[in-house]
Amino acid sequence: ETVLQLKGVTKLYNKGLAGEIQVLRGVDLRLKAGEMVALVAPSGAGKSTLLHIAGLLDTPDAGTVEIGGQQLSGKSDRQRTKARRQDIGFVYQFHHLLPEFSAEENIALPQMANGVSRGAAVARGQALLETVGVAHRAGHRPAELSGGEQQRVAFCRALANAPRILLADEPTGNLDPTTSDQVFDALMTLVRETGLAALVATHNMELAARMDRIVKLENGVLVAG
Ligand code: ADP
Ligand code: ADP
Repeated sequence: ETVLQLKGVTKLYNKGLAGEIQVLRGVDLRLKAGEMVALVAPSGAGKSTLLHIAGLLDTPDAGTVEIGGQQLSGKSDRQRTKARRQDIGFVYQFHHLLPEFSAEENIALPQMANGVSRGAAVARGQALLETVGVAHRAGHRPAELSGGEQQRVAFCRALANAPRILLADEPTGNLDPTTSDQVFDALMTLVRETGLAALVATHNMELAARMDRIVKLENGVLVAG
């Protein structure tokens, strides 16, 4: 089952200006449910641009983005925001957790914003934290957690509303190698248990090799790695 499909995605910056650059030149990508794909790209190649377009945060100049078979790239901001909230989870190199709330609350809040009761939201948060081995830290604020724990909580928050697609931009890029491996294991467990489709940008070729396949962003197009 295809959950995310990009066809011929093109993106230019500084359109019509002297500094015009074409970052994406016809990107094609198909992500299936349960598939974990590594996105490898040299710095400046357009990896963040690609993740933002795939995640409906940005719109392509040409080409289409389909989620669950629905073409969304040309739709209104409102429709794209709705689809993004339902179907897409993001994680970044830095956790972006809310500092004044506990791990558990950070995972419960996005669910409650979607109409889930506090009890159910906390229960789902607990289950997610257990999956990544941080349940015993549920009541702690981000500053009281290690870098690896913070990142594992951020994964749980990204999955709080059960999205179909996870987009991760260097999720272990800020961690030492040992912690990076542990955090990646946790991410892989979450992806496998939920049947998510995940696109994970990384510079770490060992981690990339553990995913189902590798795609490389080169000269504005994706090639098999
Ligand atoms: P990566 O994530 O692979 O480092 P980005 O997608 O952030 O790459 O950027 C790709 C290229 O586009 C870079 O040359 C960057 O400077 C440029 N770029 C990114 N965002 C903008 C923008 N808003 N306006 C102009 N140029 C941009
Ligand atoms: P802007 O939209 O002006 O870039 P924001 O504060 O909205 O500023 O976003 C800051 C960063 O977070 C940007 O890189 C943006 O693409 C990203 N972002 C914005 N909204 C979301 C969202 N709902 N989920 C994930 N990332 C987001």
